[in-house]
Amino acid sequence: MHFPCAHGRTSTSRTTPSKSRCYLPLVMQHLKSALLEAPSEVGGVAGRWALFIDIDGTLLEMAPTPDAVVVPPNLIGMLDALSQRLGGALALSTGRSVAEADRILAPLKLITSGVHGTEVRASPSGETTVLVQPTSASLLKEIMEVARASPDIIVETKGAGIAVHYRKVPELRPYLEAELGRIAALRDTIVLRPGRRVLEVLPKGYSKGAGLASLMRAAPFKGRLPIMIGDDYGDESALAIAEELGGVGLRVAGEYFPPERADFSGVVATRRWLARVAGVEAYSDDLPAFQPADA
Ligand SMILES: [Mg+2]
Repeated sequence: MHFPCAHGRTSTSRTTPSKSRCYLPLVMQHLKSALLEAPSEVGGVAGRWALFIDIDGTLLEMAPTPDAVVVPPNLIGMLDALSQRLGGALALSTGRSVAEADRILAPLKLITSGVHGTEVRASPSGETTVLVQPTSASLLKEIMEVARASPDIIVETKGAGIAVHYRKVPELRPYLEAELGRIAALRDTIVLRPGRRVLEVLPKGYSKGAGLASLMRAAPFKGRLPIMIGDDYGDESALAIAEELGGVGLRVAGEYFPPERADFSGVVATRRWLARVAGVEAYSDDLPAFQPADA
């Protein structure tokens, strides 16, 4: 890919050139500001944009445990409207499994890249394809041994990944990082990836960025410009790929991105912007959910 630069030459580096040398970041910043100020443009120009959204810390507030997340009553309807507005070019990009994403957003099913790109469902009604073998029993056993340090450490197995949540015992992070790092270093097929109060053991070569790039190669995403929204270290690869493909990466402030580096102040601001993209101007997190008459 060639990047136009201020000095009149082009760079063939796959890495985005520095701000001081090239126009590209300025162009990207202008595009980003325009989209943030006029979200209706994203949904209003047919076939132009595709949206990729992280779940935890981006769409939903973080909770003490992964199961404890709260889904606002009107979020499901808003996401459904958003998908329709974008001609179906809406995908979740999450560290959760596809099945878990379905469970918390039921009955809505969206195109989903799950467990950091190691599984994918390329259409809402399609089958989930698992791209990597599940983690081995011996690896899980070693990690469970490490987690015995505290009953407040939660080990979550999810397909090709194992997440070790330490939200209730943050003081144990150095211990967990050292021990899980040691386990990962003994195998050349896995990596240890930090997240928000979680350390994840994941297969090498897979990421949210690779998952986004893969989805962008086919309908309904092909030919569109990707917008990735995320809040954490694990989203960095997808934010970078979205920008490399000519789209935009939008960052949500929280434990990872400080406010001055973020485009949204938090989950609520992100949802409000998404609602405006969807054309649901009256959206509110506080509105009661629609109840059928016979409920
Ligand atoms: Mg997140």
